[in-house]
Amino acid sequence: MRLVLLGPPGAGKGTQSARLKEKYHIPQLSTGDMLRAAVEAATPAGLAAKAIMDKGCLVPDETVVGIVADCIAAPDAKAGFILDGFPRTVRQAEALAKMLGAKNLDLDAVIELKVDEAALLARIAARVKETLACGGTVRADDTPVAFKTRLDAYHAETAPVAAYYAKKAVLKTVDGMAPVEAVTRAIDQLLEGAVRTVRLGREGHHDGTI
Ligand code: ADP
Repeated sequence: MRLVLLGPPGAGKGTQSARLKEKYHIPQLSTGDMLRAAVEAATPAGLAAKAIMDKGCLVPDETVVGIVADCIAAPDAKAGFILDGFPRTVRQAEALAKMLGAKNLDLDAVIELKVDEAALLARIAARVKETLACGGTVRADDTPVAFKTRLDAYHAETAPVAAYYAKKAVLKTVDGMAPVEAVTRAIDQLLEGAVRTVRLGREGHHDGTI
C-alpha cells in the first residue's frame, strides 16, 4: 500500500499517518519529522534547512526529494509507505512519480484532509498548550506568524498538488474536521475501496464490479 496524505498544516496528517502505520505495518515517511531530526543531528542538510523551517517556508525540492528517494529505496518500504508532508509542490509530485515509475510502481491512493482553515489556528494553539503541559518542546514554526507563512506556502505550492492528483484520478477527499476516530474510519473505508480496485485491476477485471 503506497499512500500520500495531503492537507494544510494542522489538518491531522501526522495523527492519521501514525494510525495507518500501525494498521498496515508500513513506514510513515514524514518529511517534517525527518527534517527536524536532521536539524537536531546538525547534519549539513539540517543546518541548511533550520532557518527556512523556523520561518515556515518550504525547504528546496532537491533536499526533500533526496531524503524521500532514500527512504523509498529502503528495505522497510518494500511493502509500501505513507508519505506525510510530501509531495508539497508539483515538482516534488513529479519527482515522486519518476522514482516510483522507475520501479514500475504507482500510488494506491492520495488522501486529502479537507479542513476549515479558521479552525486551524485554534488547533495549533491547542497543540502548543498540550505540548507545554506535557513538558515537551514547542516547534519553532508553531508561532502565529510562522503558521500563517506555512498556510500561505500551502495555498501557493501544495494546493496545486491536489489538482495534479485529481487529474490522475487518484485523489480522495476526507472531512478532516470530523473527530479523529471518524476521520480514521473514513480513510479506512476509502482504502478498502482502493485496495479492492487495485486487486481487481491485477486480476484483470477492469469493469470495477466485484
Ligand atoms: P506541517 O504540515 O504541520 O506544516 P511538517 O512537519 O510537515 O509540518 O513540516 C514542517 C516544515 O518542514 C515545513 O514548514 C517545511 O519548512 C519543511 N518541510 C516538510 N516537508 C517538506 C517538503 N515536502 N518540502 C519542503 N519543505 C518541507
